[in-house]
Amino acid sequence: MIPTQKAQQVLRDFSISSSPALSINQIFEHYNIIYDEMDYGNSNYMGSLIRAKGKTIILINTDIKNAGRINFTKAHELGHFSLNHKGQQFECSRTDMLDSTRKPLELEANQFAKEFLLPEQMVKPISMSAPFDFDTIKAISNEFVVSKLVAVFRILDFHLGNYAFIGSKHGVITHLRMSKSLVGKINILKLGASIHNKSSAYECLISNFRMTGYSSVDPKIWITRNKLGSAISLKEYSRADKLSGSVLTLLKVDFL
Ligand SMILES: [Zn+2]
Repeated sequence: MIPTQKAQQVLRDFSISSSPALSINQIFEHYNIIYDEMDYGNSNYMGSLIRAKGKTIILINTDIKNAGRINFTKAHELGHFSLNHKGQQFECSRTDMLDSTRKPLELEANQFAKEFLLPEQMVKPISMSAPFDFDTIKAISNEFVVSKLVAVFRILDFHLGNYAFIGSKHGVITHLRMSKSLVGKINILKLGASIHNKSSAYECLISNFRMTGYSSVDPKIWITRNKLGSAISLKEYSRADKLSGSVLTLLKVDFL
């Protein structure tokens, strides 16, 4: 069974109709999965699934403080379990939890986690009708108890507009995602590239500038190639968390 179908089956089996993250511990108990938190002494590891002496143990690194990240890791490990992935032990790192992972079983566990935590049936209608902005991201993140990053990615799975998301840390791009309708039409700065010092993202990072909505920017600041050739209007909406140096940037593209 493909991971998304398996996640839907688990949701049905446990009659979960809202905020699935809140039901994970109950599912662990049902399957006699021993759940614990452990200090891995290494912040690169998020969690593990261990099979030993007929028992299944799921461990989460105490290093993770964010409830959303903890839930994604728990759902990911539940994915390894529900999908019957063969192996005595899965040690799952930060990179294993990214969509860009090249490990097939890790990718499957992520697909399971995404559909389990943010089921298409519940999230698609909200994503399609709500504006792509920080209010919608916060609402989904709060309701489904997932990180803002996971919420953004899921909204973009379903949003019908031409939008992109860029995550950066200390001015370096760490995450990129486009809505389906934008994929193939433009190229954006690549992962690992530095954000432009004339972007609103940069201004938010270095000053007390706080945006309350989208604002026009020079498309060249973010877009490296326009494959359609027609003129583009670009709007940016960025929010910074100065403590961590992280900036979330939303882009709205209009082809003129
Ligand atoms: Zn894993």
